[in-house]
Amino acid sequence: MSSASHIITCPACGTANRIPADKEGLRGRCGSCKSMLPAMYYRPRQMTDRTFDSFVNSYPGPVLIEFWAPT
Ligand SMILES: [Zn+2]
Repeated sequence: MSSASHIITCPACGTANRIPADKEGLRGRCGSCKSMLPAMYYRPRQMTDRTFDSFVNSYPGPVLIEFWAPT
């Protein structure tokens, strides 16, 4: 079973914020300094050549990418 929550470190003040798993992809606010937290994704998302660059370039955390092509 998953813990149903994740930790996002605030990029402004460094406070660890606990984020419920069902808030995936939504932007919350830091509980300490009220800065906007980046949206985080924990499950795979399918990208296309049109969405890939903007997503990866703006994503604040590490990204694991699997490339494939239809046969
Ligand atoms: Zn903060």
